[in-house]
Amino acid sequence: MFSPGDRILVAVSGGKDSLALWDILLELGYDVDGLFVNLGIGDYSSDSGHFAWKFAEARGLKLRTIDLRSEFNFDIPAGSRAARRAPCSVCGLSKRHLFDDAALRGNYNALATGHNLDDEAAVLLGNVLRWEHEYLGRQRPVLQAGGGFPKKVKPLVRLAERETAAYCVLRGIEYMLEECPLAEGNRHLAYKEALNGIEDRSPGVKHSFYFGFQDRSLPLFTNDGGPTTKPISCERCGASGNGQVCAFCRLLERTGGNLPSPPASVNIRGTKSVANGHGGNRHG
Ligand code: SF4
Repeated sequence: MFSPGDRILVAVSGGKDSLALWDILLELGYDVDGLFVNLGIGDYSSDSGHFAWKFAEARGLKLRTIDLRSEFNFDIPAGSRAARRAPCSVCGLSKRHLFDDAALRGNYNALATGHNLDDEAAVLLGNVLRWEHEYLGRQRPVLQAGGGFPKKVKPLVRLAERETAAYCVLRGIEYMLEECPLAEGNRHLAYKEALNGIEDRSPGVKHSFYFGFQDRSLPLFTNDGGPTTKPISCERCGASGNGQVCAFCRLLERTGGNLPSPPASVNIRGTKSVANGHGGNRHG
């Protein structure tokens, strides 16, 4: 996943998994910064940010916050209404765009997320139930950089939720316990519950489901983890996507939000870098 000396950006939610991941990577000696996106979901977002900042400040770490409302003039509840899409769909789309963009602009070697075994097994179940061929081909713990996307890694994929929670308790890490109030009806949670029920009767099944897929079935779907269609640079913001205008900019059109800043000329550490036009440093 990493090489010595790599600079890593961790997507931090304020929950147990992302804070445990940040702590583990620091303990292993990596150069790691955090990124928190304030989604504008009432007290849930402000409380989550509190835990992320508390962790960073106590250790003197660099944490960047992107505030959807002040920077892009929308939040997840308003975006969901305007786009007539489920909140989690708008939220996932926004986070993916902002995490990728920050990792590229900041010239990080990898973007790390705190997805654990429970998360990944639930995503796999959802993808299998619909035979999402393209998603299945990309469901791996490491996606190499390419096509205008940063390298993405999921270092906690071997750990169950209970294990990351136990790690936080042992390390004295305080984290956000509350669930997002918009999670109700989220299919991902239903898949998790279903797998928990099966795991109760058949311990170890989540592990064998996910890692059996990685070892034996992934090659049937794979294209080496890269995008299956040639990405196009968004004509508004330069991000990689499947159309002339990326999904995030289309969302902003519908919400009346502020357009993202143009392609990188200043990275998130505040140092100047050379822009090569759209996606100039995006490995494309
Ligand atoms: S539950 Fe849905 S809306 Fe809430 S943080 Fe997760 S993805 Fe976003």
